[in-house]
Amino acid sequence: MSFEYAPAPESRAVVDIKPSYGLFINGESTDGTGTAFKTINPATEEVLAEVAEASDADVDEAVKAARRAYTRVWSRMSGAERAKYLYRIARIIQERGRELAVLESIDNGKPIKESRDVDVPIVAAHFFYYAGWADKLEYSGYGSTPLGVAGQVIPWNFPLLMLAWKIAPALACGNTVVLKPAETTPLTALLFAEICQQADLPPGVVNIVTGAGDTGRAIVSHPDVDKVAFTGSTEVGKAIARAVAGTDKKVTLELGGKAANIVFDDAPIDQAVEGIVNGIFFNQGHVCCAGSRLLVQESIADDLLERLKRRMSTLRMGDPLDKNTDIGAINSGEQLMRIRELSQVGDAEGAERWEVACDLPTKGFWFPPTIFTGVSQAHRIAREEIFGPVLSVLTFRTPSEAIEKANNTPFGLSAGVWTDKGSRILSMANRLRAGVVWANTFNKFDPTSPFGGYKESGYGREGGRHGLEAYLKGADA
Ligand code: NAD
Repeated sequence: MSFEYAPAPESRAVVDIKPSYGLFINGESTDGTGTAFKTINPATEEVLAEVAEASDADVDEAVKAARRAYTRVWSRMSGAERAKYLYRIARIIQERGRELAVLESIDNGKPIKESRDVDVPIVAAHFFYYAGWADKLEYSGYGSTPLGVAGQVIPWNFPLLMLAWKIAPALACGNTVVLKPAETTPLTALLFAEICQQADLPPGVVNIVTGAGDTGRAIVSHPDVDKVAFTGSTEVGKAIARAVAGTDKKVTLELGGKAANIVFDDAPIDQAVEGIVNGIFFNQGHVCCAGSRLLVQESIADDLLERLKRRMSTLRMGDPLDKNTDIGAINSGEQLMRIRELSQVGDAEGAERWEVACDLPTKGFWFPPTIFTGVSQAHRIAREEIFGPVLSVLTFRTPSEAIEKANNTPFGLSAGVWTDKGSRILSMANRLRAGVVWANTFNKFDPTSPFGGYKESGYGREGGRHGLEAYLKGADA
């Protein structure tokens, strides 16, 4: 039996979206010298605002501001003083949490339940956590000397969270930053710029430049940027690795994934179903570490799939600002096209598609929660990242077969193991080539825990003590 829910919309009135936004350089908003682009609400296709597109000259201004702030103020300040700013930012994020969550849902399409209960709290936690490190860097094992100016480029799936993962450790270590949000989700980064002003952060310590690929390229190839931190697709990651090869720049890349979520026949089955749903349908599957390949032990496959379909039928899809919504909008028309195309490849390859029967809104970008069964390892839907609410189901008979299939991918970001046996969890975790392995849970994030990939999922770690390494010169410096 399913229930009807009365609408429970969060108020849009808590955010004040301006008709146009400039760049945030040297502590102030400036028009820049480039053109402008529009950011839209993916659930309605309504234009939200016009945003400046930073030119090469604007990026140069931002890097100069970051350099000045680095040499004159930020790198000279004691760690304890820097920490005060980071704590202040963390507290303002908490105070303005509702506003940030609503804005994130409007610009990104993710359900308010997630932006309010997952994204924003972890963003604040990240700033609190790295604030705690700022005066203890000599105990980090990586020295306490910052690198200088960090150029940071982030994607659209967790706009504010990726910003926090980049900015908090950089600032704690004494670096200054030039950050570019993704072109489809610039608004919360621009609100964060306001928060920096509210926190009295010295001008130039954080600079936010908006724009698309060309602006990103200008940041990563700028000769006065000491450190490049990128999160995004493997394709762009490879281009960046080529662009910085032969320079002194330090680089970290957090790229794509195709995680295996492995369910053994002794797993707590209803919990596993919840974990599978969370693994692939959280954030519309726009998650680099999504459990997009379900590996289920053959003996329980039929039962598990029946329960999974029943559970999927209760997912509520629609208005991201409705507090009941489980599945929001796909972030852009372009991403929707990619998801449709790869799903059609799945059909053509002979996999069997099942999707939740639901009425999709007529405006905006939507894709129903979908599973493909009868998938083999050679299928493109088992190999390529779909980055949407689409699960490919494969089966296995023995733990070794599960390992072989799980590791048979160019990626290696995350994995999940569902079993009653602790010893099996440990032995699987040892053999899985993935940066994060979740046991009897999935998609759990904590600022104290390092996150990052193997192989084409990138290099470097974000979060935890390990996350400091990317922003310090090293113990011998
Ligand atoms: P994308 O690579 O197209 O874009 C990411 C960012 O890079 C955007 O800000 C974009 O404007 C910028 N960019 C584009 N071309 C550039 C260039 N040549 N030089 C510099 N910057 C450039 O990726 P996307 O579509 O925005 O995001 C989806 C991808 O991100 C997925 O593959 C996903 O797995 C990955 N991702 C990884 C992680 C992680 O932590 N590993 C987290 C989130 C997303």
